[in-house]
Amino acid sequence: MNEIVATARCYRRACGGVMEGRIGNYPYRECGLDSVTLKGIRVYHCTECNALVPEIPAAGVLHRLIAVHLLNKKTLLSGAEVRFLRKLCGYSAEEFSTIMGSSKAVISRWENQNTHGGGTDRTIRLLVLDFLVREIAGKSAPVLKDVTVEQLSRQVLDTIKELADRRSDEQYEIPYKDIERSTQNSNINSREPVLV
Ligand SMILES: [Zn+2]
Repeated sequence: MNEIVATARCYRRACGGVMEGRIGNYPYRECGLDSVTLKGIRVYHCTECNALVPEIPAAGVLHRLIAVHLLNKKTLLSGAEVRFLRKLCGYSAEEFSTIMGSSKAVISRWENQNTHGGGTDRTIRLLVLDFLVREIAGKSAPVLKDVTVEQLSRQVLDTIKELADRRSDEQYEIPYKDIERSTQNSNINSREPVLV
């Protein structure tokens, strides 16, 4: 068992117990995927009610980081991964069905029964890439309907071109915490036991 690095009051009001925080690994099931483990993060355990809570300082950053991993996936996305990406982009099942040009029933089968094929997989990945690039550029979301790989590719390239054409001096402030977070993929923390 790792040493306690912090304590906090249990987040369940009715419990009132003390939570002990330790550095460890946490299977991040809350995001809807069973493939994501957060490594070397602070995990709080309630000594009273056994609740287990990870400390996630920037969930938005984390979810985009997971999305980048999914864009790099070498095999087809799973249905759960499609759902995760759809939600990250902020699309309801209804909106997603309009964008993809498929019925809501078909979307539901993609997400629950892994029925989508390679073409759909590519379109979804490009849709996410378009979302991420647009977000960086601060461009508002266009109204999309029956999108194609070609249309999305063009859109991503247009946004990147727009970014590349802007000219200004910028200062970059990178907090130590961000640097620390991005190095946690190295094996430095691999000897940490999994907290269960
Ligand atoms: Zn508790």
